[in-house]
Amino acid sequence: MVFLSLRAYAGSGVILERLNRGKFSGNRVSQPAYIGLYEEGLLEERIQKAEEMLKKCRVCPRECGVDRLAEEQGVCRTGARAKVSSHSPHFGEEDPLVGTGGSGTIFITNCNHLCAFCQNYDISHQGRGREVGPEVLAGLMVELKKSGCHNINFVSPSHVVPQILKALPYAIEAGLDVPLVYNSGGYDSIETLKLLDRVFDIYMPDFKFWDNEVSMKYCGIPDYQEKACEAIREMHRQVGDLEIDEQGLATRGLLVRHLVLPQGLAGTKQICSFLAEKISQGTYVNIMGQYHPSGEARDYPELSRALKRDELETAKQMALEVGLDRLDERRRRSFLVFSR
Ligand code: SF4
Repeated sequence: MVFLSLRAYAGSGVILERLNRGKFSGNRVSQPAYIGLYEEGLLEERIQKAEEMLKKCRVCPRECGVDRLAEEQGVCRTGARAKVSSHSPHFGEEDPLVGTGGSGTIFITNCNHLCAFCQNYDISHQGRGREVGPEVLAGLMVELKKSGCHNINFVSPSHVVPQILKALPYAIEAGLDVPLVYNSGGYDSIETLKLLDRVFDIYMPDFKFWDNEVSMKYCGIPDYQEKACEAIREMHRQVGDLEIDEQGLATRGLLVRHLVLPQGLAGTKQICSFLAEKISQGTYVNIMGQYHPSGEARDYPELSRALKRDELETAKQMALEVGLDRLDERRRRSFLVFSR
């Protein structure tokens, strides 16, 4: 609550200032791409293809091969129905997502990453949440929209793409008309992402690690680098660089998050070089410095401390040196620190 009130107090000035820095899509009146897909009758085919993937699950690059429609469970321990931990307007996301009404976050329970240091360990590892069917999931989206949220922000959606797709027509029929945000860990399959073309207007993947030995050690993922590179290329192909309207709100595009880890473990320099050289120098990047030991992090001595201020500054400098200058400033971070 402390944070919310400070955010409201700081709000309009922050947004106006951003107008002078970012790239803008102009005074564009547009509707989310999924409405056109639905009206053209193409969404139903996507839903069927996605549900087919659940039978021998290959929804994400883990490719567990379990029959989720028969309630078999793979790494993400999620069967035929999605589980949701919480839904609410969120004011702690990046400025272009928050505006004045907040980003409508829906936290999906369980995860296909299972990072040892996860900051939402109870949700991702311990399964806190409740199962929801498509109508209920649609109702959560519509409720957030009606409460004034500027977008619907699915947190950790990679393992429940078919369930989100199935819910979408119900939400559209009930009046949903704000952009969807795909807020994933970056470990997404191309086959699945292609089903999301014109469904999600905003992609917000993490790029967590460069070194596959690191991703293997902390998440049990042997091919994170390759999969994340492929996924971010596909996301950018679909939506391009982040577009921000005259109210300072993201309307479409790619926003990449990168959590800096102690001792340079995340491979920040290589990730920034990849984004600048292979994606776009116009990539909007949030270099995040809030790492602190969570979950099982204290089992790893190198992860058992918070990030140091100079490690974050060095990481930001690396981004600037390769030409990434659309860095999220997260000026609210100072408010967050004060509110702890
Ligand atoms: S979505 Fe879940 S069950 Fe399917 S491949 Fe990924 S981790 Fe395995």
